[in-house]
Amino acid sequence: MRNTGWFTRIACALVLAIGLTAGAQAQTTPIRALVLYDQAASGPYTKLGMAYAIMLRNLIGHWNTTVDMEPIQGYAAGKVEQYNVIFYIGSHYDLPIPPAFLADAYNTTKTVVWFKYNLWQLAWNPSYAGFNAKYGFMFSSLRGMDAAPTSTNPNPGFFDTVTYKTRLLSKYYAYDAATGAINADPDVGVTQILDPTKAQQLVPISNARTNEVIPYVVRGGNFWYFADLPFSYIGPRDRYLVICDILHDILGVVTPTQQRALVRLEDVSALVNRNTMTILSNYLRSKSIPFGIATIPFYTDPLGVYNGGVPQTIRMRQATALRNSLNYALQNGGKIVLHGYTHQYSNIRNPHTAVSGDDYEFWDIVNNRVLPGDSVAWALGRMNSGINELALNGYTAFAWEPPHYQMSPNAYQAAAQRFPTTWQRAVYYTATVPNLSPTAANRDFAVGQFFPYVIRKDYYNQRILPENLGNIEYDIRDIDPTSNFNYTWQDLKLNAENAKVVRDGFASFFFHPFWLEPELNKPGFQDFQSIINAIEALGYQWVDPSTL
Ligand SMILES: [Zn+2]
Repeated sequence: MRNTGWFTRIACALVLAIGLTAGAQAQTTPIRALVLYDQAASGPYTKLGMAYAIMLRNLIGHWNTTVDMEPIQGYAAGKVEQYNVIFYIGSHYDLPIPPAFLADAYNTTKTVVWFKYNLWQLAWNPSYAGFNAKYGFMFSSLRGMDAAPTSTNPNPGFFDTVTYKTRLLSKYYAYDAATGAINADPDVGVTQILDPTKAQQLVPISNARTNEVIPYVVRGGNFWYFADLPFSYIGPRDRYLVICDILHDILGVVTPTQQRALVRLEDVSALVNRNTMTILSNYLRSKSIPFGIATIPFYTDPLGVYNGGVPQTIRMRQATALRNSLNYALQNGGKIVLHGYTHQYSNIRNPHTAVSGDDYEFWDIVNNRVLPGDSVAWALGRMNSGINELALNGYTAFAWEPPHYQMSPNAYQAAAQRFPTTWQRAVYYTATVPNLSPTAANRDFAVGQFFPYVIRKDYYNQRILPENLGNIEYDIRDIDPTSNFNYTWQDLKLNAENAKVVRDGFASFFFHPFWLEPELNKPGFQDFQSIINAIEALGYQWVDPSTL
């Protein structure tokens, strides 16, 4: 899977129990969480709240929890008392909140967590005039961009920098002067501590232009408030990491600091270079580092793009270089991950070449929709074919990795049914057959999410191992137009440094063996060693992905 880089924009039983018993009280009873989100009756952003709720739901799946999600507009009085923690995602400006919820949120002793908008409907409501005195803080106002950006002043400033555990986590911002579009989420709710014996600013956010500082996370008793919605424009250097970590405290789960690391060799198919796999396997063995091998068992180039126009298919039985590489890697600490069946679709460019490793297999990326014939059974069929192709040659995979980190909702459900573990970043949708057309009346949303730790159960019931640093990329656009940017080992190192703010966060990355190909003339092996050493120097411990 080549790094598609889209994450920066929209667009995280067995194992955890072990972790917990090691240092903290075993959490046996599932924590019951309710996630309430805004859903207007109509309009272009009707389903956006649900998309954010899914992302929160996924993070809560890191713990022993049960999670219910529903639109707040349908809230029934008394419901909060059925839960341990209640989250309200205020994503729609001033959408009326049912009085029943305002009353329950104010009167309950359960933990209430409120994100971004609409706190004024409670805090400024005469019926709850005691809000300030009860919680020890007040809601003052909303702040957005300091001024409208222009081509001469593209970033006039906003509250953009969250400081957490001494790390500066910057919110994403981009301004398109040609269209006037602001690709960012600058709005924040401004609160003020009135009584420090009742309320604390747990995390500050500052405005780099004005140097103003306000609370990003404030807590008054059982009431938590986040100034923004930490699921928009997420990235590995962003305030998304705050919610990933602070949920430990919100859910009341004591977790010892534990920093583990994972590495995966990527897109290993019939065309793999036996020599580069030997070099990497030897190196990882020499450092006693177990590793994953994202394996594509069935290679096909139906249009002959790399074979002089002659269609080519290589079954695993014929793929000598692949089998020899795998055998050697397995002897040296490698573990197989099934990375698609063919990692491409039919004989259609989706979007590049229709060749294994280049294209999507379970999503129509050209039209941004599900593929013809998409169903759970169809996806299961391809996954089973992949498992069989491995088995026919004596191999088994401990986990599944979606090609290009994107599949249809049906395919995710198939993966959850077929594999006890997946290793991925994932895309979540607000419908099983999503209509992502921006002009559609009841348009759906697709949101990408990465995780800094193991997710026991996500929205599609998948168990997910983290991959949160990304991968090394070199700009080789002269050879491959799709590889047109650099993402260096230093970039991954910076991401690993940030990931340390998550008390049980991983440093997990993947690497393409083809970067060692001499004809590419890139310092692939050198840079691989550099990031491995950098992760170790940061104190992360390498673990075997198949034991997680
Ligand atoms: Zn791939």
